[in-house]
Order: sequence, then structure tokens, then C-alpha cells
Amino acid sequence: MQRTVFDEDHESFRATLRAFLEAEVLPHYEEWYQAGVVPRSLYGQMADLGLFGISVPEEYGGAGVDSHKFTAIQYEETARVGVTLGGSGVHVLLALPYLKMLATEEQKKRYLPNFVTGEEMWALAMTEPGTGSDVAGMRTSAKLDGDHYVLNGAKTFITGGVLADRVIVACRTSPATENDRRFGLSLLAVDTHSPGFSVGRKLDKLGLRTQDTAELVFEDVRVPVEDLLGEENQGFSYLGRNLPSERWGIAHGAYAQAKAAIRFAQQYVEQRTVFGKTVASFQNTKFELAACKAEVDAAEAVVDRALEALDRGDLTPADAASAKVFCTEVAHRVIDRCLQLHGGYGYMNEYPIARLYADNRVNRIYGGTTEIMKTIIAKDMGL
Ligand SMILES: Cc1cc2nc3c(=O)[nH]c(=O)nc-3n(C[C@H](O)[C@H](O)[C@H](O)COP(=O)(O)OP(=O)(O)OC[C@H]3O[C@@H](n4cnc5c(N)ncnc54)[C@H](O)[C@@H]3O)c2cc1C
Repeated sequence: MQRTVFDEDHESFRATLRAFLEAEVLPHYEEWYQAGVVPRSLYGQMADLGLFGISVPEEYGGAGVDSHKFTAIQYEETARVGVTLGGSGVHVLLALPYLKMLATEEQKKRYLPNFVTGEEMWALAMTEPGTGSDVAGMRTSAKLDGDHYVLNGAKTFITGGVLADRVIVACRTSPATENDRRFGLSLLAVDTHSPGFSVGRKLDKLGLRTQDTAELVFEDVRVPVEDLLGEENQGFSYLGRNLPSERWGIAHGAYAQAKAAIRFAQQYVEQRTVFGKTVASFQNTKFELAACKAEVDAAEAVVDRALEALDRGDLTPADAASAKVFCTEVAHRVIDRCLQLHGGYGYMNEYPIARLYADNRVNRIYGGTTEIMKTIIAKDMGL
């Protein structure tokens, strides 16, 4: 189906990005994959290409384009060649909306220029060892002491946590009230070079191996009050406002991975010979790939519509949850079927389909699990 979301500027950006991935990423990717982290210099290269500043206002060094379409293209192009670019997705898709929405003029002047150049990489820390889905249950606390908050606690599963220079930490600044357990959370932009901040284990994951996902520990970290984002105790509502864009991002990424899986499978079955003919020549193969294509076309319609709604500012939490459930389930089915067409080679990590299979699994878990998405949709239905 003809897509209508992208114009000539987007397609020219796609061509530039594709050339960058081929020249600067693919030749080194195996090394980064084995190391379990991308080199810091990659972020500098991505910044030079303008990837971190696209939607940052011009006065802070960005291009001032208020759209997620370039991010969408980034998902599509990285999936197309089976790579992930460390924690850069978190920097742009997760952290930046908080800075644009909540930072004061003084904070924007301090944070955004270094954000755009990649000199300061950002991460977002909500999840704790004891609580993930139940955000209001978090225990990390920040107590005001003069002109600093004193931060104590621990976070886990934090993408980009090893290389981050600043982390937006969700923490409890006041006890919950009897009627509202969501009250009392705040967001602090914590400098990771502060005394008392440490990175715990870099976690050994099933997939997404170039993403540094880590535990973070805070022991009496003194955070200046100037690094409070938005109003004290209102953190839960800020998190709620930004989660739809994060969930659209996961939906779009999953769609892109499913589309890439078909491409990898088609290439494979056209050259693999069994019983004297190509795997592509079996009717089962044609039917499998055709069925996958139909599912991915439907997912494309969903993500494109969600993308336009997000850019207009009216993607609702329930719509974002629906898009995430649908597209991540499609990707799960499609990637599994495409792996099957590879036979045993599909199980080998040297084949991109195997890595996609592992990378994709987390899409139904992070950013809110499928079960939590269903509770949001059901609530919106009045159930
Ligand atoms: C690779 C990776 C990267 C991540 N990156 C980040 C990051 O950068 N920043 C960050 O803050 N977090 C991050 N996370 C955390 C992620 O968002 C959480 O893992 C996720 O929200 C689920 O929380 P949990 O792991 O504590 O699971 P739990 O909340 O313990 O859930 C366990 C199970 O119970 C189910 N469940 C929970 N509540 C309900 C309910 N009400 N009804 C029905 N079923 C329910 C869940 O669906 C799940 O199946 C990351 C996770 C992974 C795996």
C-alpha cells in the first residue's frame, strides 16, 4: 500500500541514514555486538549527522522540526539492516520529551546544547528491582536538604545506563496520600558523575545486545534543586503524559522489525535449495510470506496513523496502548514464522533473523507489558 506519511525531505533523510549505516555501522557491528555495547564515538557521529537535534528548538542548537517522522525512519532503517544503536533511542525518544515539556528556560540552556552534540547522553530511570508495572510503588527517595535533594535507592533495567551522563530519575519526594498513591513522585535530572552515583551490573540480556542496560545505585547523591524537572510531587502525571510517545515508538520499532524479517526470509528462501528446488518455490513458503506481508501491511497502517496522531498531539494513552499491543503481537508472530523458514540456520546468531527474534521479545514487556496495555484499553472502554 502507498504510504502517505513521508515526503521528499523524509526520503532524502532515509537515504542519508541508510548510507551512514552501511559505511559507519555495519563494518563494525559484529565487534560491538560481541562487546555488548556501542563505542561512545558512535554517539558523536550520530550527533554530527544531526540525529539528536532534529526536534530540539533551533535556539538550543537543534533543527526545530517538531515531528516524530524522522525517528520513525530511524527505526525502519536500523531494523532493515538488523542493527540497534545502543541507548540512542532512549536519549531521543524517552528523555527529550521530558526536557522539552518540563525544563525551564535556564535548564534548557544548560541541558539541550550538550544533548544535541551527544556530549551528554541521557537515560530514563523508572523501574526498580521491587517494582516495574506498578510505577506508584517505587521506593527510591529524595529528601530536601537546603538547596539539594539527597537521593537514595536503586533502579534496574535502565537502557543506556552505563554510558549515560544524565539520568532522569523518578523518585519519591513525599509520602503518598491516603486517597492518592500516585502523589509524591518527582523527576530529577541526575548528573551521573555525582559522588554516590554508581552503575551496578551491566545486565546480560537475551537480545538487544548492543544496548547497555544496567542497574543504577544512588547512595546519598546530592542533586541540586535546579535539576528538579517540573513541579515537585507531580512526577506521576508527567510520566503518564509521555508514555504514549514511548509506546508508539515501541510499536513502530516492532512493525519495522517484522518488515525486516520478511526481507531477510525472502532473501534466504530464494537462495536455499532443498530437494532440488529453492525453499521459495514451495507453496507453503509463498503462503507463509504472503500471510506475514498482510499482517505487516495492517501494522503499517496502524503505526502510520498513530504517528500522525502523535505529531498532531492527540495520540491518547489508550490508542498508543492499542498500537503497541497490536504491532508487537504482529511482530512476534511474523518474526517467528520467518525464522521457521530459515530452518536450523534461523537459530544461529550469525543470521540476522535469529537476532531479530531475540531483540523483538522485549517489545511485549518494556514500556509497559501487554497485560498493562490491555488494562489501559479496557479502562478506556469503560470496563
Ligand atoms: C531490555 C529492557 C530495557 C528496559 N529499559 C528500561 C528503561 O530504560 N527505563 C526504565 O525505567 N525501565 C526499563 N525497563 C523496564 C520495563 O519497563 C519493565 O520491565 C516493565 O515495565 C515490566 O515491569 P517488571 O519487569 O517489574 O514486571 P512486573 O511488573 O513484575 O510484571 C510481572 C508480570 O506481571 C504482570 N502484571 C503486572 N501487573 C499486572 C496487572 N495489573 N494485571 C495483570 N498482569 C499484571 C506483567 O504483565 C508481567 O507479565 C526495561 C526492561 C527491559 C527488559
